[in-house]
Amino acid sequence: MAKYGEIALKGLNKNTFEDLLVRNIKRRIKRCGEFKITRNQSTIYIAPENDGADIEKAIDWVTKTFGVAAVQRAAVLPKDFDEIVKQGMPYLEEALGNAKTFKVEAKRSDKRFPLRSPEIQQELGAAILEAYPHLTVDVHEPDVTVKCEIRDSNAYLSALRIIAAGGIPVGSSGTALLLLSGGIDSPVAAYMMAKRGIGVDAIHFQSPPYTSERALMKVEELCEELVPYCGDIRFYIVPFTEIQEALRDNCPEEYFTVIMRRLMIKITNRMCRDHDYKAIITGESVGQVASQTIMALGCTDKAAEYPVFRPVIGMDKKEITEIARKIGTFETSIQPYEDCCTVFTPKHPRTKPVLAEVEAAEARFDFEPLIEKAIANIEIKDFKL
Ligand code: ATP
Ligand code: MG
Repeated sequence: MAKYGEIALKGLNKNTFEDLLVRNIKRRIKRCGEFKITRNQSTIYIAPENDGADIEKAIDWVTKTFGVAAVQRAAVLPKDFDEIVKQGMPYLEEALGNAKTFKVEAKRSDKRFPLRSPEIQQELGAAILEAYPHLTVDVHEPDVTVKCEIRDSNAYLSALRIIAAGGIPVGSSGTALLLLSGGIDSPVAAYMMAKRGIGVDAIHFQSPPYTSERALMKVEELCEELVPYCGDIRFYIVPFTEIQEALRDNCPEEYFTVIMRRLMIKITNRMCRDHDYKAIITGESVGQVASQTIMALGCTDKAAEYPVFRPVIGMDKKEITEIARKIGTFETSIQPYEDCCTVFTPKHPRTKPVLAEVEAAEARFDFEPLIEKAIANIEIKDFKL
């Protein structure tokens, strides 16, 4: 049973959100075998159709689906109290075997069931105490909460609750374009915006031969790791070498980084316009490096024609790293390959660049033809669920 959190609070649009969530779950678990998916009262029921279905794997995928707040593993039993006890007691072994305290929560949606909810709680509690005499009841802070729900079709008995990804379903908030480097921060930024329902495609700037094929492969690996959370990702690879060389040859070194970032944004603007992305996402965090001081961020921002979302802006590296570990991108991100940002890095970048000066420095060279050429030569790869 996938329980949803925030969607349950949606008003008129609730149905649309629920449909989208069901679709997102379906696409994720199709690789785990055949499942029947139904929904009822803020719960999505996912039942294996046959023995071939890999339930563990399906649970793992559902847990990673944004919009799902918790996954509750349940036994589907006949609506007969004696049967619930008979089949249910061995089923609860996994959850109760190592617990010390428990409580029972019952919910009777089918009012034809002869026992009312408090009675189910009492009787089932007694049966559990008999089957597992080492347990005691604790209604305030139990180790395990056993849930018994009497629905129209069946009774559902469960005790294992897994906290899931939370958030709202990807696709419910439009699509944005992520500036994806090979670092720790930008994959985490993707995860955080996908959590708010945004579909994420990614753009990466590479400067061969200064950056290697292996560096690109690492970024592609990150895309693959983000797919379970973000869904399908279209990945744009921009050839950035000529632009960086022109920058090196024509602009003052101290402005190199900030101008480079503005050029990245200008290319991203074009992609947003041409492919209907509504926002830009980056992994910037204030004060991390010279290009991420408030003033440098301000100069970068002025180049943007779309809202720039920076979900990790106020986070410490440590906090970002924790998320990267949790979602499984960290080990890939720390592989030591160069990024185009580290090519021609100035010795003394301006940490307090002034926009007018940056614009003047940038105007010394006409980047437009090179931007056109880079866009014309973008390579596209699709990463699919
Ligand atoms: P990260 O850990 O994400 O690489 P960082 O601390 O290395 O971040 P920068 O290199 O200054 O910081 O990059 C800041 C942001 O700019 C990145 O989070 C990413 O969104 C974007 N970015 C940097 N390099 C690239 C690149 N080669 N292609 C696409 N986006 C990039
Ligand atoms: Mg980086």
